[in-house]
Amino acid sequence: VHQTLDTAQSTHTTCPYCGVGCGVEVRKTKNSLTHNHQVNGIVGHPANQGRLCVKGSSLAETIGTKSRLLFPQFQANGQTEQVLWSQALDKIANTFKATIEQHGADSVAFYVSGQLLTEDYYVANKFVKGFLGTANIDTNSRLCMSSAVAGHKRAFGEDIVPGCYEDFELADMIVLVGSNTAWCHPVLFQRIAKAKESNPDLCVVVIDPRHTATCDIADIHLPLLSGTDVALFNGLLHWLHQHGAQDHQFVTAHTQGLSDALKQAGEHRDTKALAELCGVQLQNLEAFFKKFAQTEKVITLFSMGVNQSSQGTDKVNSIINCHLYTGRIGKPGMGPFSMTGQPNAMGGREVGGLANMLAAHMELNNPVQRDRVQRFWQSPLIASENGLKAVELFEAVEAGRIKAIWIMATNPVVSLPNADQVKRALSNCDFVVVSDITAKTDTTAYADVLLPALGWGEKDGTVTNSERCISRQRAFLNAPGEAMPDWWAISQVAKRMGFDSAFDYHHPSEIFDEHARLSAFENLSSESDTYDVSAAQAENLVLAMSNSNPSTNFDFRYFNLKGLCGLSKAAYDALPPLQWPVLTPYQGTSRVLTNHRFSHPDGKARFISVKYEPPRHKASRDYPLALNSGRIRDQWHTMTRTGLAPTLGSHIPEPFIDMHPNDALSFGIKQNELARLHSQWGTLVARVQCSGNMRRGQVFVPIHWTAQTASDARVGALVNPVVDPVSGEPEFKHTPVRIEPFHVQ
Ligand code: SF4
Repeated sequence: VHQTLDTAQSTHTTCPYCGVGCGVEVRKTKNSLTHNHQVNGIVGHPANQGRLCVKGSSLAETIGTKSRLLFPQFQANGQTEQVLWSQALDKIANTFKATIEQHGADSVAFYVSGQLLTEDYYVANKFVKGFLGTANIDTNSRLCMSSAVAGHKRAFGEDIVPGCYEDFELADMIVLVGSNTAWCHPVLFQRIAKAKESNPDLCVVVIDPRHTATCDIADIHLPLLSGTDVALFNGLLHWLHQHGAQDHQFVTAHTQGLSDALKQAGEHRDTKALAELCGVQLQNLEAFFKKFAQTEKVITLFSMGVNQSSQGTDKVNSIINCHLYTGRIGKPGMGPFSMTGQPNAMGGREVGGLANMLAAHMELNNPVQRDRVQRFWQSPLIASENGLKAVELFEAVEAGRIKAIWIMATNPVVSLPNADQVKRALSNCDFVVVSDITAKTDTTAYADVLLPALGWGEKDGTVTNSERCISRQRAFLNAPGEAMPDWWAISQVAKRMGFDSAFDYHHPSEIFDEHARLSAFENLSSESDTYDVSAAQAENLVLAMSNSNPSTNFDFRYFNLKGLCGLSKAAYDALPPLQWPVLTPYQGTSRVLTNHRFSHPDGKARFISVKYEPPRHKASRDYPLALNSGRIRDQWHTMTRTGLAPTLGSHIPEPFIDMHPNDALSFGIKQNELARLHSQWGTLVARVQCSGNMRRGQVFVPIHWTAQTASDARVGALVNPVVDPVSGEPEFKHTPVRIEPFHVQ
């Protein structure tokens, strides 16, 4: 099992883009350290089995030092000054220390990213929550999957994705909700398309307001009105109930709360009225309901169209309710399946990357779990209350309650909702640190200190994809300039603030081992068990526990890496892809919840009674259109990497506004001409296309362009700062806007 994946000329690593998490083999084609690399999919990688999409296969075009931030810098009044690392680190440590002494721990914050490796994420969270004593560390994954996390916890008692990608090949029905899988998770889409070729009975249903490329393989497309998902899935639950589709044994033995959920679902008993509410054809809605009721092996994938909503968590639970009702969970080819957007959104969850979590999936507001983590870290104090979630965190910066912030590997001036407010916040903030690979982003402009980070191909660590597969990112390039790993920069600041021994890391393998040991410690059932698990002890622990069934005494039965405790550096370097839980050495687990024991105290899953609510801000006379936003096929986030690849730029070279041709006509807008969108929060100018993919009353704008790449076509500037009340995830899919022709003066 200790296979050596690297050779001198070939490195096995993981794609840095979407949550599919494809294995990538990089070969040097010439004897050069920075150019001339060939990139292929790894045939033996469980996520992609040799495939890559166009973004992955263009990775070699993004390698190099062009546009890179290469040295630490101080920045003031538009002037930058190159400084030594020691000067930059001293300044950060001194300023954070003084700010905390003067204003308290909650006056500082970190805003990090699903681009961080798990080791970076772990050290950042340990430092902030266990040593600074605040939980003000949130992540751009808040914008991506926090509604799924909250929905999982409500239903299962823990944050867990039950299934795996193989389930898409075993299913007889795949429901894709709020997901343009073809463009946003292309390799998984390729696997689904291939499964459909070989299984003529496989029915694919796409539930999405837009007619996207994913509809190419759809048997049924339900172009629902944005935000009506809870009504639709409540209607499905009621319909299943009416048509005898309940798995009585499963529901009785393994769930609670059905009657309340059914009562609420009964509000949508009139299928004709439901079709009108959702804006879909009655016959298609009924065809979907019938097929769902009749098909045993159903998997329901959901993504940003579900999560990014003022009712995102309820939407997630409305989907899970239907799977619980039919007992379709924890079995091959069936289950609810949350796709994450980012390469390491799942890894961030493992180490407490959200402001309301602790490492090893423990909870900040659980005193027993807090105590365990604190004793494991031997930290002087630990945050005792949830920190601020992304949107409220930047509101606190603008209000002056947060006076120092460290932003890592993300570009919130582009990507957050109400993005102009983020500009104002960072302008007003006393002290802003930005760690990035790129010298000039819309966010680096506001930094007092800039730190050069390592990028893909340079940094070493792990990421976890949407099916819980931990996969190594390996370095095959030298660090450019003075760029350093993020975990190193944080550790250096921690040491300067007096926390030497807790941050004395020399290699990411040491951090991974600590992370694995904390997960094993979490699963020790006795408070008297040692938490300082040496490699030998870990091995004994693994052997002792490998044959035992997960105990309900464990707070979290599934997330653990006890089979990976005590890995040597060499073993870490050669670590093959493994799906957690890793209960015994090198044995991953593809599917969980197979014994139908859930992590609520009684071992039962919960139906959650959810009531349909329309999007918080409705279209109005002044703002009659609903703005939807999302990714395009060939770009990634704010284009700092994909923008370097000519192959990718040729697909869609500029930002656009997609709308229905009749809407364009009624607003006096012509195809391919410029138009300006206005919302209550900001404006944007882009060229109009009428692709025929949009419903009337809705417009779509991609999320990628920035002030750096187009004359300020940041869609974030328009997006309402409304968030889901449970998860804090913003409503990126529904902002009221108006449109007018734009004429260049
Ligand atoms: Fe990378 Fe996602 Fe494409 Fe795979 S599907 S190559 S992870 S962008």
